[in-house]
Amino acid sequence: SHGHSHGHSHGGHSHGHAMPVRHTAPSESPRSNDPALGPTRRNRSSPYPMLAVDEAIGLIREHTPSPQVIKVDVDGSLVGCVLAEDVTATEAVPAYRASIVDGYALIAPGDGGSSKGVFPVASVSHATPGEIAPLEVGQIARITTGAPLPPGATSVVMVEDTVLKSMTEDGQEEHEIEILAEGVKAGENVREVGSDIKKGEVILRKGEEISAVGGELGLLASVGRAKVKVYKRPVVGVLSTGDEIIEHGRPGDLRLGEVRDCNRPTIMSAVRGWGFEVVDLGIARDKPGALEETLRDALRNVDVIITSGGVSMGELDLLKPTIERSLGGTIHFGRVSMKPGKPTTFATVPVKNNAGERVSKVIFSLPGNPVSAIVTLHLFVLPSLHHAAGVAPAGLPKVQVILDHEFRLDPQRSEYHRAIVSLGKDGSMHASSTGGQRSSRVGSLKSANSLLCLPAGKETLSKGSKIEALLMGRLKSEFDVL
Ligand code: AMP
Ligand code: MG
Repeated sequence: SHGHSHGHSHGGHSHGHAMPVRHTAPSESPRSNDPALGPTRRNRSSPYPMLAVDEAIGLIREHTPSPQVIKVDVDGSLVGCVLAEDVTATEAVPAYRASIVDGYALIAPGDGGSSKGVFPVASVSHATPGEIAPLEVGQIARITTGAPLPPGATSVVMVEDTVLKSMTEDGQEEHEIEILAEGVKAGENVREVGSDIKKGEVILRKGEEISAVGGELGLLASVGRAKVKVYKRPVVGVLSTGDEIIEHGRPGDLRLGEVRDCNRPTIMSAVRGWGFEVVDLGIARDKPGALEETLRDALRNVDVIITSGGVSMGELDLLKPTIERSLGGTIHFGRVSMKPGKPTTFATVPVKNNAGERVSKVIFSLPGNPVSAIVTLHLFVLPSLHHAAGVAPAGLPKVQVILDHEFRLDPQRSEYHRAIVSLGKDGSMHASSTGGQRSSRVGSLKSANSLLCLPAGKETLSKGSKIEALLMGRLKSEFDVL
């Protein structure tokens, strides 16, 4: 009669169908299978509640450890970091009165006086450090862009507004110059001290990100800031699991049942592309001991572990039991109502750090199918890395797009449909599918720059419908910008 007891689960007295009845809180006893019991006594339906994507993202926000503040050198490695302090300029930029043009520094005449005339070139100011002789009334000084004004000079006239009148005897130097410009005012073509950045001004605020565009690093460099407080960026370990998984580059034909590792190289490169340091944790076999040892080692060296595979319902799906039963971790969710990516698992594990303090480390166990792994990586892991690194808003940017063709909805689960979003000539963004969406078909991610957020439903969305999309990559453009 055992074969007819649908939904019956060991360790609980199930009344209904899918879920075993619980008499204990999850923290008191694990929900995962005990691997020692084997295939005959495992759960036959997942004991993890099915969460909506938003609930899952909420739990990630809640349980990702808060950012840690560190002090680091100001250099290119800051790119992607978020400031953990306000930064005040301790110097003015420019630090001296500088010329904006190549030309001649002069003393602007007072009211009614003419700036025109022929003047002796008394000195030269190049953009080099050192002393410069003061300028007397009736003299001018040749000056280059960015060079300091001689003391006493008020203004600079562009070389284009002048004529050479006479030269020195050897013909090597300018002797007299005629100024053609009339009505030159004090301060003309001069960058005053502190006119770009004032001393004492707040140039960057806590929470601002150092971009690769260059503006933030440029500000820090301009005022001579040597070190700055930022949030530590988590170090991420990436592990593939499965007895069938082999190194992707292994030469030779595949034996029956072998599968090349697609997830580890893709996950590692995506995480690196987001600017986080990555540690390659290799491939773990489907043996409880091997997996536990690999994870324990990794927890010593990284802040976040991303695994793929081993979270479905098979008897060799060992991630959940290993995290709960061997590592003493807490699984915050183990099932999400989405397509692809249903068995995505998020857990934290208490660990002692080098200073002997108890800290919490994050494990994401993503589904094994390559598409599911990459989609859930973008959807769930990125926000967690952002929270840990102080980046806000966390996760992928959401935009509204217009569908270029019909999309059939999944009746049960919300779907993250891989699509190409382009910027049309009219400025609107529109989306077309990358084709077949089966979760093993990694080609559905080729050229995809977005995930369309399709709700669950019975209907078909018509061409022209508006829908939300998460941007994973650069927007395509229908016209050449340059
Ligand atoms: P699992 O969740 O371990 O049952 O894996 C689900 C499917 O994904 C199986 O077909 C696996 O062979 C496949 N898979 C798991 N890990 C990888 C990987 N690293 N690269 C490619 N396919 C994988
Ligand atoms: Mg597996």
